[in-house]
Amino acid sequence: MLQETAKAAWEYGRKFLMQGKVADYIPELGKANPVYLGLCIKTPDGKTIEYGDVEERFSMQSISKVVALATALQHLGFDTVFSHVMMEPSGDAFNSILKLDTASNRPFNPMINAGAIEIVNLLAPTFKFEQLLDFTRAICMDDDITLNEAVYHSEYNTGDRNRAIGYLLKSKEVLEGDVLQTVDLYFKLCSMNVTARSLAGLGLILANGGVDPRNGVRLLSAQTVRTVKTLMLTCGCYDGSGEFAVRVGLPAKSGVGGGIMSCVEGQMGIGTYGPALDEKGNSIGGKNTLEYFSRAMHLHIFDSERE
Ligand code: GLN
Repeated sequence: MLQETAKAAWEYGRKFLMQGKVADYIPELGKANPVYLGLCIKTPDGKTIEYGDVEERFSMQSISKVVALATALQHLGFDTVFSHVMMEPSGDAFNSILKLDTASNRPFNPMINAGAIEIVNLLAPTFKFEQLLDFTRAICMDDDITLNEAVYHSEYNTGDRNRAIGYLLKSKEVLEGDVLQTVDLYFKLCSMNVTARSLAGLGLILANGGVDPRNGVRLLSAQTVRTVKTLMLTCGCYDGSGEFAVRVGLPAKSGVGGGIMSCVEGQMGIGTYGPALDEKGNSIGGKNTLEYFSRAMHLHIFDSERE
């Protein structure tokens, strides 16, 4: 059942690829092939189900905001983190500067660029990129994650909007220290090279309450995981989060590299890769695959017709 439904969902998702467009505001991302679509599902008992382009490597982009937030919650604690960022959906594009200057000094949430840059600023004095990379490998169950140098340089060379967000935050005394170093660390985190499989691994750890089901090792506290998943549900797809929550009803985080990482409480982690994006920057193939899969399997968190 799981296997056949996953295949049907992937086939359904492929139908939408031509309606999407690969991101090219970071020039290196523009080289991705819009016909790729991969789906990987991992369950706590060690099963992996996958279709399509699951071995293709791509940059994690905004999905790394989950890693940064989880690390900050673990090491700095809930109160410190949320004295620097809020936990409200912004309703604006992921790279918007609007509300930051008009509605609030604190960024609206850690899943948009302003919030993630603030979180990375909190991590910067304590963590080197290599340590965060190692932790990413552990929570994605993928030792082969590396820095995609080409994407990193491309984003570094074109990342002035993110630098502007950093300077605005600094001018409001929300961000401290060196803006350029902070944004540089943020670019590196966005440029970590994953696969749909690595995203399913991360989803599985979140689905499993922060424990690696292969060995019982706890990587994240239950409270961290609860907070992260809630923010994924309300803010994980930027200004498309409301519609995604209605249609799919699962916590998810997307990135402009084409990945979506999602999870089903206690049951599975799901990773998709499809670089053709909708107008809000969410993978069009991934989002439709997840919608089909969630509906067919009754996985929506408010679905009363459980399997
Ligand atoms: N690195 C990207 C940026 O800052 C991440 C955005 C995204 O994935 N939505 O623009």
